[in-house]
Amino acid sequence: MKAPICNICLKTEDQLCSHCQNKLDDGKITDKEVEVSRILYELSDNNPSLQDSEIVQVLDADRVLVVVTSEGDGAKVVGKRGRVVKKLAEQVDKSIRVVEQASEDREVIKGLLSPGEIESINKVYTPDGTSRKVVVDEEYKQKINLSVDELEQFMEDITGTGYTISFEEV
Ligand SMILES: [Zn+2]
Repeated sequence: MKAPICNICLKTEDQLCSHCQNKLDDGKITDKEVEVSRILYELSDNNPSLQDSEIVQVLDADRVLVVVTSEGDGAKVVGKRGRVVKKLAEQVDKSIRVVEQASEDREVIKGLLSPGEIESINKVYTPDGTSRKVVVDEEYKQKINLSVDELEQFMEDITGTGYTISFEEV
């Protein structure tokens, strides 16, 4: 399993090696990523698909924990019949959303918005330059479990590009 922390730190419980500790101190990884990486590593004993997966990032929202995997690894982290995410949800007491990295931002955004769907992604011209607006049918607003602020922050965290989100009647 590949994770934001190294293989040695996956297996320990309290301390981090100096390399991982530095990453934590520099804000390159978060406490939540350390915690979730270790939980998933423990679960990999009984869920072999996890052993061959890569956890890229863990994003913590109020009600949801977003686990970002490398492309193609989403199903491995979800586990058979959702077994892994169910266990993880119990331990962190939040619902879990697994999103795969993708070369197309649209795919990442789709994963974050699930079960909502993208109506359109529009370029918006502002005095500060261009921005991109993702339009989603407002009927999904309550079903996504992530606030607009959280969605916008996570879209940028994962894709590196700024998007705004707009729930609209379509
Ligand atoms: Zn380490």
